[in-house]
Amino acid sequence: MHVDRLWTGGRLATLDAARPGLGLIEDGAIAARDGRIAWIGPARDMPAMEAEQQEALEGRLVTPGLVDCHTHLVFGGSRAREFEQRLAGLGYEEIARAGGGILATVAATRSATEDELVASALPRLDALIAEGVTTIEIKSGYGLELATEMRQLRGARRLGGLRRVGVCTTFLGAHALPPEAAGAGLLDAVDAFMEGIAFSAAQTARLFQAARALGLPVKLHADQLSNGGGAALAARFGALSADHLEYSDEAGVAAMARAGTVAVLLPGAFYFLGAQRPPPVALLRALRVPIAVATDCNPGSSPLCSLRLAMNMGATLFRLTIAETIAGVTREAARALGRLAEIGTLERGKWCDLAIWNVERPAELPYVLGLNPLAQRIWRGA
Ligand SMILES: [Zn+2]
Repeated sequence: MHVDRLWTGGRLATLDAARPGLGLIEDGAIAARDGRIAWIGPARDMPAMEAEQQEALEGRLVTPGLVDCHTHLVFGGSRAREFEQRLAGLGYEEIARAGGGILATVAATRSATEDELVASALPRLDALIAEGVTTIEIKSGYGLELATEMRQLRGARRLGGLRRVGVCTTFLGAHALPPEAAGAGLLDAVDAFMEGIAFSAAQTARLFQAARALGLPVKLHADQLSNGGGAALAARFGALSADHLEYSDEAGVAAMARAGTVAVLLPGAFYFLGAQRPPPVALLRALRVPIAVATDCNPGSSPLCSLRLAMNMGATLFRLTIAETIAGVTREAARALGRLAEIGTLERGKWCDLAIWNVERPAELPYVLGLNPLAQRIWRGA
């Protein structure tokens, strides 16, 4: 068998659903050809290989490249001043009156050029990449008018050309879905923030109907601050994912289970906002709803550029197991983006996106803080 690259002697966490838990293969080998996984399995089963390049992993752990399936990475300005004000005792309304809050980010994003948006997002993207992220979702939503939303989406697409990383774009819809953006191929999915302080169920349903008419999958910021029936509404539209879910009830979770909608948990926002009520993890588990974990990287509620820290918070704050945190940033995150056929597990035929770690136990990935154990990151076989 002729391949471009061959890695041998690794502990492979395949995340293959056909295997139990993390799908571990001890003393495993993995081969890449044309960017895809050409062969994977225990070394003893490996056919004769002729590889252009071969590397010994010396027992290192290999996982699928990490997938950050919920970010607002492209935005203008910073909200550090607001953080300062909050710590000085100012309330939400006072901060808003002083020009803070989400509208501050909207103003800064509207006044930024596409080049400026790309330049300011790059360090955040690089931080995620340095920890093994190979695919990232990026939402628009800070324009609230067409030109800026398009600029954010174009900026997000450009980031994918500047770095070796897969980028999925999501239009975080306002009142209407711009057909211009869909026509320009700038959208992979449509999202909304359904909440008492944002968009209603009726408005969200209208947006989702427009998305459906354009053949675009939907996602939803659901039940973060109150139980508004977001999980059920997302499920009704066959959403790829419903995200946050702190206040979702059993009926909503059951509807997600029936629809195959992924629960994307965002512990960074929970932590940064000092929220008290965690999402219903036991219920999600009991009803077998797939659980993903993401950074929710955004300037207001989750200024987090570390997916490994999100994994740690998922474990410490939401009591996710080690297997759940790792599956949550690989297989289930890929599922939440509708990309599981291409990425998210180590299986023959998928893109060869790998994170190779200087660790022996999988638990070390969410466990250690402030030390980056990534040895090597492979995107599409290179
Ligand atoms: Zn979000």
